[in-house]
Amino acid sequence: VSGPEPREDHRICVCVRKRPLNQRETTMKDLDIITIPSDNVVTVHESKQKVDLTRYLENQTFCFDHAFDDTASNELVYQFTAQPLVETIFRKGMATCFAYGQTGSGKTHTMGGAFSGRGQDGSQGIYALVARDVFLLLQTAAYEKLDLKVYGTFFEIYGGKVYDLLNWKKKLQVLEDGNQQIQVVGLQEQEVCCVEEVLNLVELGNNCRTSGQTAVNAHSSRSHAVFQIILKSGGKLYGKFSLVDLAGNERGADTARANRKRQLEGAEINKSLLALKECIRALGQNKSHTPFRASKLTQVLRDSFIGQNSSTCMIATISPGMASCENTLNTLRYANRVKEL
Ligand code: ADP
Ligand code: MG
Repeated sequence: VSGPEPREDHRICVCVRKRPLNQRETTMKDLDIITIPSDNVVTVHESKQKVDLTRYLENQTFCFDHAFDDTASNELVYQFTAQPLVETIFRKGMATCFAYGQTGSGKTHTMGGAFSGRGQDGSQGIYALVARDVFLLLQTAAYEKLDLKVYGTFFEIYGGKVYDLLNWKKKLQVLEDGNQQIQVVGLQEQEVCCVEEVLNLVELGNNCRTSGQTAVNAHSSRSHAVFQIILKSGGKLYGKFSLVDLAGNERGADTARANRKRQLEGAEINKSLLALKECIRALGQNKSHTPFRASKLTQVLRDSFIGQNSSTCMIATISPGMASCENTLNTLRYANRVKEL
């Protein structure tokens, strides 16, 4: 073996979370084809057919920083993904957590963005858990004296355009100044003083996001939702945690048949997810050039991909069913590439 040793990189953490089979899948007798043989390995048991029509299982194994099976709680997933990044923003850093995967695989469940963010079953999602720990840290001796203020923003990126979810989906301009600083002009920053106020913002944003939409999931699956918790000191940006519920990554058969609007949406989503992968890879490889201009998503998250003090985690969510096999494999391959050197 020659060449340099792969560098341990703690700035990027990539995890996979499998959800349980749901009612519909169980009714349709879909099979669970995913096993998590150890806490960082995912195996897909793909059913294949030989020329003589007998079936066999082809096993494909993927390695990640962590792999969570369908018994893992949001709290557990949080402990290994976003929680270690909370301190980052108290050290003037940028932390980012992405939920990536097929529509229906559990991104919003993980982030806790559905409804009020309080969780349908009382279990909190990552928005709430980050907020909890930010306010806990704020009260510790080490950080109390910094006199930091906490703000929340919530916006959506749809078709390459930015809409403020805390301001009636007002369409916002994204500007870049001479120093490559990106500004989302007029984005509402709401001051928050406790977890409850953060959850109120999440609820407000979600209501705004889905108002006027006939199918809630149909819209949310085609837009990226970005919720940010911002620390400020003396009115100036101090640290920022961005929590991103990405658009569904499924493309292909259904979009080929779909109308032109759907196709354009699909192309836009594809472009942004590819750009995202390249930007995270650039961060991991300490590249001096980050191709953040390739999409609106990566442009508004520019700060997350640069600087010595940026940490990122990605939670790739997967459906367990055989019917989702192709999408699941695509998700696992993408998540693998994000960290591959
Ligand atoms: P996505 O946001 O990726 O489209 P959702 O988070 O809306 O998917 O999840 C789809 C459905 O599956 C929801 O009803 C959600 O409550 C359920 N679900 C997702 N992940 C889990 C999980 N880990 N445990 C239990 N139910 C889950
Ligand atoms: Mg969702």
